[in-house]
Amino acid sequence: MKKINTRKIKQIVSQLCIEANMNLRKDILNALKKALKVERNKRAKRILREIIDNARIAKTERLPICQDTGVAVVYCEIGQDVSIVGSEFEKAVNEGVREGYRKGNLRKSVVSSPIERENTRTNTPAVIHTRIVPGNKLRITVCPKGFGSENKSDIRMFEPTATTKDIKDFVLDVVRNCGAEACPPLVLGIGIGGTFEKAAGLAKLSLLRPIGKRNPKKHIGRLERELLGDINRLNIGPMGLGGKTTALAVNILEFPTHIAGLPVAVCVSCHATRSAKKVL
Ligand code: SF4
Repeated sequence: MKKINTRKIKQIVSQLCIEANMNLRKDILNALKKALKVERNKRAKRILREIIDNARIAKTERLPICQDTGVAVVYCEIGQDVSIVGSEFEKAVNEGVREGYRKGNLRKSVVSSPIERENTRTNTPAVIHTRIVPGNKLRITVCPKGFGSENKSDIRMFEPTATTKDIKDFVLDVVRNCGAEACPPLVLGIGIGGTFEKAAGLAKLSLLRPIGKRNPKKHIGRLERELLGDINRLNIGPMGLGGKTTALAVNILEFPTHIAGLPVAVCVSCHATRSAKKVL
């Protein structure tokens, strides 16, 4: 049994919070550069150049890519042959988030109660998802999620008779409703199937898949490609000011569901779709 101390977990989470907020993912950066080459709208091109420049400055000057440094969503895949020793696991993850946001001078955006709205001043608690997987490794992924885009996410519980066109129309409506507030170009994570909460979880999880990598299931890969084409014909463009770069990617994950339903969740993410991971 491999032992991993929670001190190490805290340290890694802290580093990942800083890295994710300051280094734009390579696949997102490459997708932005590719979009810049094919975009014809002058204003859209200028905005794409500014977004790319912003990422370069953030990296070299050690500054956050965006002022909204998000809620820290932390995915932990724990190998079943790993023994976590030391303090409480979730406490260690939260201490890591607290330290990372303090050391990185990252904005603290979490309020303790959604009704009373008092800032916790630590950006904790994080949203932690743990999964037990085979093996003796611990994979930690930190995704700071900004709320300009998160607020535009949506879910619909379709009847099982819904068609692919119904699903597409729903996704297009979600994108139309984003406008500039979700800071396009977007990355859309879509979860289809499971239950209400499973679909939403899949939608967010799919944001971790590198841009340009299609779902290997043929019918899902085709739906991703068709949706991306339809979205980029909406002429919303970078920051909602026109152009054909409304989304960089549509990533879909599907899961078996009940005979009586068809849940579809759309997680909207922005040009600052961030994540950083480490395997222990
Ligand atoms: S939607 Fe994204 S780019 Fe816009 S403010 Fe929020 S985190 Fe920043």
